[in-house]
Amino acid sequence: MTQQQKVWVLGNGQLGAMMAHAGQPLALDVRPVDIMTPGIDKLPLGENDIITAEREQWPESATSLQLSEHPHFINGPIFARLADRFTQKSLLDELNVATAPWQLVEQDTQEATLHQSYGERVLLKRRTGGYDGKGQHWLKQAESTSIPSDWRNEAIAEQAINFDEEVSLVGVRTQDGRCLFYPLALNLHQDGILMASIAPLSRLNHLQAQAEQMLSTIMNGLDYVGVMAMECFRLGDNLLVNELAPRVHNSGHWTQAGCHISQFELHLRALCNLPIDTPQVNFPCVMVNLIGVEKDDRWISLQNAALFWYNKEVRVGRKVGHLNLSAHNQALVHNSVGSLKQWMPEQYQAPLDWILKEFS
Ligand code: ATP
Ligand code: MG
Repeated sequence: MTQQQKVWVLGNGQLGAMMAHAGQPLALDVRPVDIMTPGIDKLPLGENDIITAEREQWPESATSLQLSEHPHFINGPIFARLADRFTQKSLLDELNVATAPWQLVEQDTQEATLHQSYGERVLLKRRTGGYDGKGQHWLKQAESTSIPSDWRNEAIAEQAINFDEEVSLVGVRTQDGRCLFYPLALNLHQDGILMASIAPLSRLNHLQAQAEQMLSTIMNGLDYVGVMAMECFRLGDNLLVNELAPRVHNSGHWTQAGCHISQFELHLRALCNLPIDTPQVNFPCVMVNLIGVEKDDRWISLQNAALFWYNKEVRVGRKVGHLNLSAHNQALVHNSVGSLKQWMPEQYQAPLDWILKEFS
C-alpha cells in the first residue's frame, strides 16, 4: 500500500474540520492542528507532507513555527501579505484591480481630510485581526466622530460604498497555473457578518467573466496555489473588490451540496497536485449561516437541508454552523425557508425574506 499523502492545516476550526472531511474519500490524511494550546509535542512532519492554513494570521507558537517553516508550506508569504489590509489593498492597486478607494490612517491623518476625500461616511478598518465586521469603526461627519487614538498606523480608511449588493467569487489556481472558478455567489451580510449566500444565480451570469478576470489577475500575480475567495461589491455592472481570503471561504460552503467538487476538496486537489477540472454545478443552493443559535434538530427534518454543526460553544454573534439548502425549485425553497422563519429568532427574518425574494 502506498503511503497516504498528509496535509497539515494550520488551525483547527470548522474550515480545517471540513477540509479533513473532504479529504477522506480521496484517502488524503488531513490533519488540522491546534496552534494555540501550549505544550503540544513536536509534530511528526514528513518531508513530503504538505502544509496549508485555514486562517490568514496566527500567533507565534512552537507549533505554528514548525508548520510555517516547513518547505512545503504552500503560499507561505502570501498569508501575511493578505492578512494586513494595508498590504492587501496595496497589492490590488499594484495589479490594477478595482477596489474601494482607501488610504492608510497615519499619525497626522485628519478626519476632515478623510471626509473631503471620501464623503460624509468613512469606514475605518483595523489593518489586521478583523473578521465578521469586528475591527470596523465608522467616521460620520455629521456626528463629528473621531479616529480612535490607538487606530493610527493600525487602520486604513475606506470610502463608504453605496453598493447594490455583495457577491463573491471562489476560485482555484493549480500548480501548473490554471485558474478555475465556481459561479458567483450572492451574499447577504448583516452587521458585518455573512448571513446567507445563494449560488448560482442566472441574473449574475453577465458578471462572471469580469470577476474571473479580476481573481485570475490576483492569483497569477501572487503565483498562488489553491482556493482563494474574492468578496466584491456590485455597483450596477461593475465589481469592486472588498477583500480577499487566501483560503476556503464561508461564501463557498454551498459547494458542499451544489457542486461535484466542493471548495474543500478543490483546495486539497490543488495542493496535492491531483487532477482538477472546472467544478460542475449539481443544483442551485442556499447557504444559511447559524449564528449565535442553539442546535435545533428540526432543521434536518427539512426536505432539502444538510446541516454542518461546528460543535462550538454558542455565543451571540458567533458562527456555530451552517445549513445548505438545495434549491431545485421555488416550492422547495419556499417550504424550507418558511419553516425556518418560524423556528429562527428575529435577526433571521430579514435574511430569510431576502432569500424568498430571490426565489419569487
Ligand atoms: P470577513 O469576516 O469577511 O473577513 P471583515 O469583518 O473582515 O469580514 P469586511 O469584509 O471588509 O470585513 O467587511 C464586512 C462587511 O462590512 C462587508 O461585507 C460589507 O457589508 C461591509 N463593508 C465593508 N467595507 C465597506 C465599505 N467600504 N462600504 C460599505 N460597506 C462596507
Ligand atoms: Mg469580509
